[in-house]
Amino acid sequence: MIRVETSAELREWTAARRRAGDTVGLVPTMGYLHEGHLSLVREAKRRGHAVVMSIFVNPLQFGPNEDYDRYPRDLDRDRALAERVGVDLLFTPSVEEMYPEPLQVTLRVGSWADRLCGASRPGHFDGVVTVVAKLFHLVGPDEAFFGEKDFQQLRIVQRMVRDLNFPVAVVGCPTVREEDGLAMSSRNQYLNPEERRIASALPRALRAAQERAAEGERRSRTIIDQVEQQLRTAGLVIDYVSIVGEEDLEPVETIDRPCRLLAAVYVGKTRLIDNIALGPEKER
Ligand code: AMP
Repeated sequence: MIRVETSAELREWTAARRRAGDTVGLVPTMGYLHEGHLSLVREAKRRGHAVVMSIFVNPLQFGPNEDYDRYPRDLDRDRALAERVGVDLLFTPSVEEMYPEPLQVTLRVGSWADRLCGASRPGHFDGVVTVVAKLFHLVGPDEAFFGEKDFQQLRIVQRMVRDLNFPVAVVGCPTVREEDGLAMSSRNQYLNPEERRIASALPRALRAAQERAAEGERRSRTIIDQVEQQLRTAGLVIDYVSIVGEEDLEPVETIDRPCRLLAAVYVGKTRLIDNIALGPEKER
């Protein structure tokens, strides 16, 4: 595995791989790697790509009162994990390398950025698409791999590619979970043992909702009420619980097409998100 910190070296390497006839797969991350990140690399490798992983904690996507400064970082550990899973090039730019001067031109997401996670994180998705666009330009991947764990992000990046004609296919990969169902996340690191125990109520509530929908409950309101009650009883503070169309992220009243139930909760100071498929063809 090669590690580079500059855009120039990155471009040189990807150009050489292309000349050698390889396709390139990109896995963008903020590091503090776990099995969820590694599953994206495995999928990229399975598809035969030369795999670029980026590790960059992107200041543009953090709000002023969010956890940018204390976001967990451990580059030595990440490097070993990336190498072991078969990353070919690890790109670890500094903030100065990515943003040598304050950006004058950025991307802005429309109404999809005002709902779900966007409602409590203003500017977040603008920061995400801006850095992803830069990474797409720097790497020129054939395919880029994103987790369904961040479902709204996945759909927004797919939409960016469609709206702005990026020549890349965005591949969504299933959420990797701990044994008790909690979605893996670098932020799980923040939880103390008691919080960690309580956190498992989130995937449990989503699972229960999926079962109710599979049994025939079609009213979103009923399912959302039950999920909210279950989360509150467990001691979680709700940011949102919402059911939207799988493709268009529009709120649905009746679950008569493929949908996603998405939720964000606070356990103490830590914000956790998760989502699950509901409705026809998606019930598993
Ligand atoms: P992050 O480092 O949290 O920005 O995540 C980098 C990429 O890994 C994003 O595409 C995430 O959706 C994906 N990811 C994070 N956690 C998981 C997980 N538990 N399962 C699958 N993908 C994940």
